[in-house]
Amino acid sequence: MSTEARAHRIIVVGGGAGGLELVTRLGDKLGKSGAAQVVLVDRSPTHIWKPLLHEVAAGSMDPNTHQLEYVAQARWHDFEFQQGELTGIDRARKTISVAACVDLDGMELLPARELPYDTLVLAIGCVTHFFGVPGAAANAIALDTVAQAERFRRRLIAACVRAQNGGGRVGADGRPCVDVAIIGAGATGVELSAELRNTAHVLSAYGLHQLDPRRDVRIHVIEAGPRILPALSERVSTETTKLLHKLGIDVFTAERVTEVTTDAVLTASGKRIDADLTVWAAGITAPPVLATLGLPVSRMGQIVVGPTLQSETDPDIFAFGDCASCPWPEKQGTVPPRAQAAHQQATFLYGALCARLAGKPLPAFQFKDLGSLVSLGHFSAVGSLMGGLIGGSMFIEGLMARVMYTSLYRMHVLALHGAVRMALDTVTHWLRSKTSPRVKLH
Ligand SMILES: Cc1cc2nc3c(=O)[nH]c(=O)nc-3n(C[C@H](O)[C@H](O)[C@H](O)COP(=O)(O)OP(=O)(O)OC[C@H]3O[C@@H](n4cnc5c(N)ncnc54)[C@H](O)[C@@H]3O)c2cc1C
Repeated sequence: MSTEARAHRIIVVGGGAGGLELVTRLGDKLGKSGAAQVVLVDRSPTHIWKPLLHEVAAGSMDPNTHQLEYVAQARWHDFEFQQGELTGIDRARKTISVAACVDLDGMELLPARELPYDTLVLAIGCVTHFFGVPGAAANAIALDTVAQAERFRRRLIAACVRAQNGGGRVGADGRPCVDVAIIGAGATGVELSAELRNTAHVLSAYGLHQLDPRRDVRIHVIEAGPRILPALSERVSTETTKLLHKLGIDVFTAERVTEVTTDAVLTASGKRIDADLTVWAAGITAPPVLATLGLPVSRMGQIVVGPTLQSETDPDIFAFGDCASCPWPEKQGTVPPRAQAAHQQATFLYGALCARLAGKPLPAFQFKDLGSLVSLGHFSAVGSLMGGLIGGSMFIEGLMARVMYTSLYRMHVLALHGAVRMALDTVTHWLRSKTSPRVKLH
């Protein structure tokens, strides 16, 4: 038997905000030295940091310049990449099942496979939850993938061009108009609404439509709760509401959506909000496959893990990021599904898995809440809240908040590529922003 065949085999399923950081570091440390065989499984061939998706949807970010190919990262960081969707685990035989991959023409690229593991890490994130609202899944666009975000952007441009040329809706004032409804006023919905206002201006500036970008491109944010940004402080919510009003964005609170049709959103209070395009940003749930694995799951369907991030019933299976329900004793709850948490858990698991391989006891994960930041695009200051770092919480806005908001992504790039490439990436994207249209136009 070769040395490689005997090496401990760590499989990480899901190369997202957390999984790709973890597998990169494990590859650098354990894969390179041959101390372990490190494998990444993802259903997609490329990675994008999910919090960028609202910018992709608004066209203010070209996904091609921010996507990373897993095979290349695997080559550079000494891990193996297997493309395919996790469909099951045989815990007795310690294997996972991965579905076959097909190409764009539906031809099989890779067959269904079984992959053996010694340690398995699940990091497959979350998916949009439509809560069974009639018409929502069929008529609203979710923002889980680049393909969905790109579809939204193309439909937005088409709606503006159509309206301009008399093929769209006409408002009460007799002018052609485009209505965009965003359901859910959490960070994603709010950030998208601000980005879209910018997009409407840029599309107009490039002559793609001659609609008035503020009056004729109408953006409606609809929230079931009593205020926007329910997970953040009252102050952040109030300040952000003021900024959205300044941007001419309609904010409806305490409006529970009861139906989404092809051209409107209906609410429990009897409102009908016109919508040429509807985005669903109102909730997430765990991927259904997790409930089929025979491991304890939370009410939301996440894998229940203890402080070491191991499954409650199988010490060889770890889970983290959005797909795990991890205790947060300080708040008597669970760690929130955020990129910040996935990043901290990836850093923790890197150390924990190295310790485990060396036969040392596992430490306990402690989440440090560094606060939450909400980007309001190019127009205005960024409302934000910062906690843990200063031993309390503080409201910040403006340039400082904007810098901190982008630093979360920079930390991700740093974890994937190191400081030199992160600096080069930052400069490259800055130069590109000076030589390309501010919105992707096609
Ligand atoms: C539009 C948007 C904006 C956001 N903004 C913020 C923000 O500003 N700040 C913040 O902290 N958080 C934000 N979030 C949340 C943040 O993106 C998530 O908390 C974070 O990405 C979770 O990381 P993860 O590694 O757990 O999962 P993900 O990053 O979702 O990665 C999951 C990976 O698993 C793969 N996968 C899924 N199912 C399977 C399967 N069955 N088999 C194989 N592979 C699979 C996927 O392809 C993906 O690569 C935002 C989310 C969205 C959608």
